[in-house]
Amino acid sequence: MKIRVSDLSEEVRQVEFVERGDALNELVASSAGYDDQRFDGDIAVRAELYRYGGDVHASGTLAGRLACTCCRCLEDFDRPLERGFKFLLVDASAYPEGEADEGLDYHDGEEIDLGSLAREQALLALESMALCSPDCQGLCAGCGANLNEGPCSCPIHNRL
Ligand SMILES: [Zn+2]
Ligand SMILES: [Zn+2]
Repeated sequence: MKIRVSDLSEEVRQVEFVERGDALNELVASSAGYDDQRFDGDIAVRAELYRYGGDVHASGTLAGRLACTCCRCLEDFDRPLERGFKFLLVDASAYPEGEADEGLDYHDGEEIDLGSLAREQALLALESMALCSPDCQGLCAGCGANLNEGPCSCPIHNRL
């Protein structure tokens, strides 16, 4: 989803589009550390944009589902993905080379790649560790039993 900067004005413009789950999963596969999570279907993106001079304001939400494997008990589960975002994109040509501010996002004066911004935000919604619940008990180090389903018969010192 690309939006031409010249098509934007001070009047808020609403856009809705979908980012494909399989394309997102290729990004997940190429980023280290997320073997236990993938997008379960497509992500719906709703955004509002307006332009004030060279500044483009973009905000919106992402919604979809993630399929995960718990890093403690190894059970599969899925969870909703919901994330809001808000960007101010300034015209890069207004900032001479070397004077760019690290804290700002830029557009090239031609177009805004909203799809790319949405994909970045979708990846940021992944957890550093997928847990089926914050108090997941994990697996017994002795017998491998899932301790969320109840205590096993091992001596207590075998448990993680
Ligand atoms: Zn778990
Ligand atoms: Zn055990």
